[in-house]
Amino acid sequence: MRDLRIILGDQLSLDVSALRDLDTERDTVLMMEVLEESVYVRHHKQKIVLVLSAMRHFASTLRARGVAVDYVELDAPDNTGGFSSEVERAVRRHRPERVVVTEPGEWRVQELIAGWASLTGTPVDVRADDRFFASRERFLEWARGRRGWRMEHFYREMRREHGILMEGELPTGGEWNYDAANRKRLPPKTRVPPRARFAPDAITREVMVLVERRFGGHFGGLDEFGWPVTRADALLALDDFITQGLPNFGDYQDAMRAGAPFIFHSLLAPALNLGLLSPREVCRAAEAALSAGTAPLNAVEGFVRQILGWREYVRGVYWTLMPDYADRNALQATRPLPAFYWTGDTAMRCLREVIGDTARHAYSHHIQRLMVTGNFALLAGVAPRDIERWYLAVYADAYEWVEMPNTLGMAVFADGGQMASKPYAASGAYIDRMSDFCSACAYDVKKKTGPDACPFNYLYWAFLIRQKDKLSGNPRLAMPYRNLAAWPRERAAAVLAEADAFLDAQT
Ligand SMILES: Cc1cc2nc3c(=O)[nH]c(=O)nc-3n(C[C@H](O)[C@H](O)[C@H](O)COP(=O)(O)OP(=O)(O)OC[C@H]3O[C@@H](n4cnc5c(N)ncnc54)[C@H](O)[C@@H]3O)c2cc1C
Ligand code: SF4
Repeated sequence: MRDLRIILGDQLSLDVSALRDLDTERDTVLMMEVLEESVYVRHHKQKIVLVLSAMRHFASTLRARGVAVDYVELDAPDNTGGFSSEVERAVRRHRPERVVVTEPGEWRVQELIAGWASLTGTPVDVRADDRFFASRERFLEWARGRRGWRMEHFYREMRREHGILMEGELPTGGEWNYDAANRKRLPPKTRVPPRARFAPDAITREVMVLVERRFGGHFGGLDEFGWPVTRADALLALDDFITQGLPNFGDYQDAMRAGAPFIFHSLLAPALNLGLLSPREVCRAAEAALSAGTAPLNAVEGFVRQILGWREYVRGVYWTLMPDYADRNALQATRPLPAFYWTGDTAMRCLREVIGDTARHAYSHHIQRLMVTGNFALLAGVAPRDIERWYLAVYADAYEWVEMPNTLGMAVFADGGQMASKPYAASGAYIDRMSDFCSACAYDVKKKTGPDACPFNYLYWAFLIRQKDKLSGNPRLAMPYRNLAAWPRERAAAVLAEADAFLDAQT
């Protein structure tokens, strides 16, 4: 045998570099379901079902194309449960001349791969993951010598470089960014369309039984599982988004409504991150909708910015700053994650709704993550590593390369401003403006203090008071700090005491 070609669980693309120049006569593909990957954080059951089912479907696609696949199932009697030990075992089985693998999405796995050549005594060819627009080196080249890394600057460079939404040297429509048009509240009468969900087929149902048996105690339920697990279904999901979601994606990108977790979002991150869709085809589909006149520019630009901008940018941040990035804690936050993040058992309706939807669907959209669960963790001073592990555990799209910078850099400002120019801290007024949660909450969003005051209100001020030394020099926080400067000392002390009493009761 010539090559052992390894396909990891989030590399399910026929054009992934590890499959390039594959010789079906002489090469074997190795795919492994290993226990270690399901339990290093206790992933939502839907996430485990999604990955294992998509892997099994991908293996049958390869076999149908005449590729020899050595597939190690989770329950295989001699499965050792770890990547390295499984690769070692497979090398003993097949005696390949070399091992070929595409670079992984996680630092931890990259470290494992680095040890495979000496572990197996076989050369290992680690290939770049060119499914992204920007290679790791390309990001580094952009970042080198810049003090603050701002996504917007990187995004413009990517637009030019890849000719997306460009007319010659100029951005389509004359502006780079239409965000100002994208912060609307969802009017109560606006109908949110039902979205394409995919009923579990026989393979997925079999995996569901396995996951209930092996990981029954993990967070979340399987009843609402509807994620695409094949490329064909992922393409249907893309089509559904382009027709049902994209036209309103821009306008209501930040809006939240109780009982409607998806609004007009794409729900494509799980398929994109597994490799069932490519970021290029997704951007092209959005551009085509603009050309056809079925989606407006603010929606298409807003969507392209998420993929070509944010998704590429956070990957660059991750690979450039790891492994130290994982331990950043610029605000020295130490509080443990409140238990209600796992149960949804809280009188705060915004958090109850978002955590409840997370358990049901392994999904929340960006603003629910950033401005509800993230904002609360920031204001409460939850230890960054605790909240970061929570995000990695609970979402179907969660992989460390994309989740960690979003959590540490965007949600809880643990990197001290490497990614965001100020913390995304907000009082209840923001949540009230962008959602209908507050109208039926046990707390009163208009009240600043007292037992029925919205906790986000006093937590917000307590956060600013506590972090004064670190944040008062930030020009983007000048206004609230000017406001605070006029407070009598007793008022500040009372707010701090109220915030502490509330938080102590949560853990
Ligand atoms: C604290 C926190 C944790 C997050 N963890 C993850 C994660 O583990 N995995 C993940 O894919 N995204 C993560 N995000 C980013 C974003 O919230 C999700 O990509 C998005 O909610 C997925 O839903 P969607 O596919 O409907 O996205 P849409 O709103 O429809 O956006 C379209 C696509 O753009 C990309 N995208 C949008 N925003 C971002 C972003 N900030 N960073 C990277 N890509 C983005 C995604 O691929 C997404 O599918 C996180 C955000 C925050 C604030
Ligand atoms: S009142 Fe406060 S706690 Fe209740 S839903 Fe609104 S923001 Fe959340």
